[in-house]
Amino acid sequence: MRCFQIVIATFFLSFAFTQSASAQDAALSPVAKHGQLSVVGPHIRDENGAITSLAGPSFFWSNTGWGQERFYTKGAVETFAKDWYAGIIRVAMGAQGSGNYLEDKDGNLDRVRTVVNAAIENGLYVIIDWHSHHAEKDIEEAKLFFTSIAQAYGEYPNVIYEIYNEPLDTTDWSTVVKPYAEELIETIRAVDPDNLIIVGTQSWDQDVDKAADDPITGESNILYALHFYAASHKGDLRKRAEYAIEKGLPLIISEWGSVEYTGDGKFDKKSTLKWMDFARKHRLSHLNWSVSDKGETASMFKPSAASDGGWTDDDLTPSGKLVRDIIRDWE
Ligand code: MG
Repeated sequence: MRCFQIVIATFFLSFAFTQSASAQDAALSPVAKHGQLSVVGPHIRDENGAITSLAGPSFFWSNTGWGQERFYTKGAVETFAKDWYAGIIRVAMGAQGSGNYLEDKDGNLDRVRTVVNAAIENGLYVIIDWHSHHAEKDIEEAKLFFTSIAQAYGEYPNVIYEIYNEPLDTTDWSTVVKPYAEELIETIRAVDPDNLIIVGTQSWDQDVDKAADDPITGESNILYALHFYAASHKGDLRKRAEYAIEKGLPLIISEWGSVEYTGDGKFDKKSTLKWMDFARKHRLSHLNWSVSDKGETASMFKPSAASDGGWTDDDLTPSGKLVRDIIRDWE
């Protein structure tokens, strides 16, 4: 009897240890903590109803042959999750330019799937972005792509759809961008009723005031993209964003840079920190451009950085170091 009690006690003790270890792992994952996200008023809320603001990196264009596709690896995602404590990442499915998805579907899809699957394994949110400046020209391809993505991933709370990276300044919100978005939303919602969808706004995601004056109605869990590059965009753009927020428009900074709007030029730490104050104040989520070693100041990495993560300070550019520290301290 006594021997039996010890066996039973040992069994429950080891069971308890196993349970607490896995509970601890789960508690560390952003998706385990926040679950299915929704949009309520101007905010993202988690499944407990708490306002949720996430930070992380954006991968560079996925295009074959551009060089930065080398970072689309499981190891890179693991390092962002476990060393940078990212809550969210973004994949930029290149949908224009040489080697883009329309020219090399298998190569680009392989890379995007690798990163999305790794995000799910690591409990990260992941934005799947149709990275184009003229998405309305390829709307049928975009619809097919997002249908297949929704079929594969719509049941995972991790996945967020971004249907149009950056419409140009000449691409009118009300007559071009908004109708494109409504068509894509209908397509995705036919498969996935609930995951968040990010809509691009006119002028490289700066004219959020136009979207606030003429928002999409009758849909739920929709966010609008606000992009900034800290050395180029300052108080004027923040004022425009505040106008939209005051009108109740839910914004997400799905891409930002610490440099000029070209992705190159001056690294502006001071302006970046002002923007981060703004993001905190309004509880906005944000993703930095970009996971790249290209010779431009927006790149996080030096060419020495391994493709599969495990980076040290020596692998990071000045922007990369600042961005890593911002992401680490965000939540
Ligand atoms: Mg879903």
